[in-house]
Amino acid sequence: MNSTRRTILAAGLAAPLPACVHGASMNEIFDVIVVGAGVFGAWTAEHLRRRGRRVLLVDQMGPGNARSSSGGESRLTRAAYGADRIYSEMALAALPEWKALSAAASLPIFHETGVLFCFNEMVDYARQSIEAHRALGVPLEELDRAALAGRWPQMNLDGVAFALFEPDFGALMARRGVEETVRRFTARGGAFRIAHARPGADGREVVLNGAPTRADAIVYACGPWLPKVFPALLAERIFVTRQEIAFVAPPDGDDRFEAHALPGWIDYNGGDVYYGFPNLEARGFKLARDTHGASFDPDSGDRRMSDEGAALLRAYLARRFPALADRPFTEFRVCQYENSSSGDFLIDGCPGREGAFLLGGGSGHGFKHGPEVGRLMADLVLDGRVPDQRFSYAAKGVTHRREVL
Ligand SMILES: Cc1cc2nc3c(=O)[nH]c(=O)nc-3n(C[C@H](O)[C@H](O)[C@H](O)COP(=O)(O)OP(=O)(O)OC[C@H]3O[C@@H](n4cnc5c(N)ncnc54)[C@H](O)[C@@H]3O)c2cc1C
Repeated sequence: MNSTRRTILAAGLAAPLPACVHGASMNEIFDVIVVGAGVFGAWTAEHLRRRGRRVLLVDQMGPGNARSSSGGESRLTRAAYGADRIYSEMALAALPEWKALSAAASLPIFHETGVLFCFNEMVDYARQSIEAHRALGVPLEELDRAALAGRWPQMNLDGVAFALFEPDFGALMARRGVEETVRRFTARGGAFRIAHARPGADGREVVLNGAPTRADAIVYACGPWLPKVFPALLAERIFVTRQEIAFVAPPDGDDRFEAHALPGWIDYNGGDVYYGFPNLEARGFKLARDTHGASFDPDSGDRRMSDEGAALLRAYLARRFPALADRPFTEFRVCQYENSSSGDFLIDGCPGREGAFLLGGGSGHGFKHGPEVGRLMADLVLDGRVPDQRFSYAAKGVTHRREVL
């Protein structure tokens, strides 16, 4: 990488700096500017900082903000990925980073609840996950119905033939995790600013709140906004879909849905996939359907729960968690997945713009991998080390066909 350091033309930062500017003076010099403080951008900035670079992280609204894909309450971390062992390995590598962040934070970021995977029959995904865990030495319990019924009697097991249980994984507190990553990044010398960014005249220029600003490299980690930032390149390659989530109040005085009594879970019950969390930090039992929803605009999309979505979740509760069947919904959230054609991430240089990089395509499973994705992007920016071909722009198709689960 060109070691010349370019001065941010800070005087051109048109908007007054808001109160949440951390560690960035108006005349500071930066090597790399990262656009987007979701989980991918935050960890990229942190890895670049660890490698001695001066890094400016910008976001139009703030780390883990309410519209971002990283802005939810919780995200599952798991190593089971069927045949896609590359993601098992990435999840394993990312976990110690999350644990370290959690240990240093004042509130937990990782809850080691374990993750339970329910299946209605032995399918390739389960078989391949078992093989991968054996090869990688990751603990994985295989449970038949009797074992399941004894361990988690709060679940109705109709249609479940067997399950896998990963004891070492669990739930990440998503928004808190991103905030804490950025807090640590700024506490150790990184700079963060609120600014809207658009690509500038060439790959090494980014326009921040209207002001052209240069650095040796610009990383665009804009999540579901990537198709708007690079419409010619990504409008047909990132499919942004509407996803609906609900929280339910467990029965009063009943601790069967607390984190010590129920793991995170994914139910591959032969049709739609459902997943959820125990009553983490008393926010409520959380559940969602993993099916990709209708296309969604992260700026203008309606974030109110649909009646149809609420009814589906209610019916699922009645089937699998009967004690929750009539319990009140306490909260709904509508978020978006930013899917690539296959579900593989996008970690690559920006075609036609030397010095610029594209990062995204989290596809509904990216959060857990944030620390590893950030490391891969930092290696690409600083060393030109190209990650696996499946993360390339060239591998991204224009037909939405999910393959990674
Ligand atoms: C409902 C739901 C459930 C999920 N469940 C899981 C799960 O259980 N496990 C898991 O591992 N993953 C899960 N995911 C996926 C995971 O959350 C995402 O893959 C990940 O958060 C994507 O992060 P990101 O940094 O790419 O995008 P984002 O978090 O969206 O961050 C992008 C950031 O870029 C900023 N930005 C965009 N454009 C600009 C601009 N022009 N200028 C300045 N800033 C800009 C935005 O403000 C935003 O903060 C889930 C996602 C959703 C929505």
